Amino acid sequence: MRFIGNYSTGKMGYAIAEALAGEGAEVILVSGPVSVSTSEKGIRVVRAESAGEMYEACTAIFPGCDGAVMTAAVADFTPANPEDRKIKREKENLVLELKPTRDIAAALGAAKKPGQLLAGFALETTDELENARLKLKKKNLDLIVLNSLNDAGAGFGFDTNKVVILDKNNKIQTFELKTKREVAADIVNEIITLLPQQMDSL
Ligand code: C5P
Repeated sequence: MRFIGNYSTGKMGYAIAEALAGEGAEVILVSGPVSVSTSEKGIRVVRAESAGEMYEACTAIFPGCDGAVMTAAVADFTPANPEDRKIKREKENLVLELKPTRDIAAALGAAKKPGQLLAGFALETTDELENARLKLKKKNLDLIVLNSLNDAGAGFGFDTNKVVILDKNNKIQTFELKTKREVAADIVNEIITLLPQQMDSL
């Protein structure tokens, strides 16, 4: 009836799925409730309503994949006791108990096998590069896409984004403000560059 959500539209994730499919990849797009859709051939959409459902879908699908790109802005907390009915507006204040969600990217990072590639996103407001680098290590990612809320035209809802791509070899690439479609192409290029190294680790 009511839910806790965020400002993410899904535009970046859908653009990446389409860019990967455009390069010939067989794509499974695990999608939360978003405002965009795709009709691109080569993309199978799996729906997830909650962070818990997304966790279950991703951990089930990942073992059969060559890689995963984690773009979803997954909520950090979820209601501890969800109601199946509307909560009546009787009281002045309502105190909701929240519990932390499980980190999907970190779970896939822990389960990652040699040859698999894992990419994540980081939205930072302070010490951006350092925090993104720490996140890359902590979640065992191969690359991380940093977008900042400090840049005009970047982040939630916009059709444009401005990113820095950091990889596990400490390569840093800074890009200009571009459409999310162009940003997706840059990310997919970086994935294609890293893939031979992933294969070497087999
Ligand atoms: O820790 P933070 O949420 O900033 O990390 C962002 C990265 O982790 C993104 O790639 C996001 O998709 C992923 N993430 C996740 N599961 C969560 C929280 C974040 O997969 N519960």
